[in-house]
Amino acid sequence: MTGPFETICSLAKELDAGRISSRELVEDAIARTETLNPDLNAVIAMNKPGALAAADQADKARADGANSPLLGVPLLHKDIFCTRGVRTSCASKMLTDFVPPYDATVVKKLHDAGMVSFGKCNMDEFAMGSSNETSFFGAVKNPWDLNRVPGGSSGGSAAAVAAGLAPLATGTDTGGSIRQPAALCGITGLKPTYGRVSRYGMIAFASSMDQAGPMARTAEDCALVLNAMAGHDPLDSTCADISVPDYSAGLEQSIEGLRVGIPKEFFSSHLNDGVAATVSAAIKELEAAGAVIVDVSLPSTDLGVSTYYVIAPAEASANLSRYDGVRYGYRCDSPSDLQDLYLRSRTEGFGEEVKRRILIGTFTLSAASYDQYFMKAQQVRRLIAEEYQSVLKDVDVIVGPSAPNTAFVLNDGSKSITDMYMEDLFTIGANLAGLPAISVPAGLVDGLPVGMQLIGSRFGEAQLLNIAHQFQIRTDWHSLTPDLEDLTG
Ligand code: GLN
Repeated sequence: MTGPFETICSLAKELDAGRISSRELVEDAIARTETLNPDLNAVIAMNKPGALAAADQADKARADGANSPLLGVPLLHKDIFCTRGVRTSCASKMLTDFVPPYDATVVKKLHDAGMVSFGKCNMDEFAMGSSNETSFFGAVKNPWDLNRVPGGSSGGSAAAVAAGLAPLATGTDTGGSIRQPAALCGITGLKPTYGRVSRYGMIAFASSMDQAGPMARTAEDCALVLNAMAGHDPLDSTCADISVPDYSAGLEQSIEGLRVGIPKEFFSSHLNDGVAATVSAAIKELEAAGAVIVDVSLPSTDLGVSTYYVIAPAEASANLSRYDGVRYGYRCDSPSDLQDLYLRSRTEGFGEEVKRRILIGTFTLSAASYDQYFMKAQQVRRLIAEEYQSVLKDVDVIVGPSAPNTAFVLNDGSKSITDMYMEDLFTIGANLAGLPAISVPAGLVDGLPVGMQLIGSRFGEAQLLNIAHQFQIRTDWHSLTPDLEDLTG
């Protein structure tokens, strides 16, 4: 049975021992999704026949002697990944009719590893948001409290894993969209180093920061999945041609003597008190496991949000210029001329937040503002990256909160747009610097999950996963699940 506690590792054992078939697992996952999704709105497309056929194939392969740990395990993909023959909307009206003729590399790699995709997860429109409220298909609900947001933009993926619809969902992270929802939903989410995972077939938001990663219950599961997701792809020129280590191999290593840097700027006035106390207690666990705690400083932390919100919209405005109502995507009814076609297709097809970003981006890229905004932001980006690099010369890993708050209430009228942008205060640095980072469940505040973030050196995923796993051996925050009994009946 799939259920709230199942990890990929535990399911793989059941499959291997023949106590369950992939067909049964996938049927269960679909049934649980059909029961819970009307309340959660985490899944926006299903592919039942394709999934059942793939499950049967996995069962046959296993019977024929294949035994990869991912073989026959169900998953969901964020709806930003192109899936051949299955609608890929990026949660935008613009792409509600888009059925890609090809699979994203991430989709293909996980399929080749034997995983069975049975649907697509809701998200913020074009991955722009921190609450999953900007989706054309409506907000996702946090399984820990249905009146609260799951975080964003990979909120559907986080909610789906937290609610036990699947043991894995893919996510993407441009400014925090894997780590912040993972934190708010009490799961583990890894954003790899920029270039570790192919972006081919992943609908582009801000190409210099977008990166795909696994969202699962544990670091151990994330390691298994990263083994299959990572690696060079000739179809993405920014994908690093660096060999992929076995991320599962080093998980059991001791973290005795490891140097853990705690940036004082991460424990600033922006941080909720309960979250601060919870993350501090989690850091004590690392210390108890033998890690050496070192105070460090990332003085430009406060500049991260404004830098990101110049660069990301600039890149987005360029990436989104392809949706012109001509080649594919939404087209308005009976345009009077070409100008009207462009104008109305884009006005009607994009939501408010996406339009805001396009406006900001075209403004900062315009000749009159380019030097003042875009160039300046690039310079500050370099400064921030250098600060991280210099701290990481002295410590093995940087640790702090993943997000400043626990899950906030849906439609919170008191939250301004900039308040929302501040949700990414602690995650954005890793994107600007291209570094890997992971969020692990670290406790609860008033019944809501808190995430601890670990940021590592470039291509240091193995070490992050090792530390996260050692933390998860000593704590059981990752095995807590929301009570959904009222919904399952
Ligand atoms: N919340 C950030 C934004 O709205 C990050 C999004 C992301 O990582 N995709 O841009």
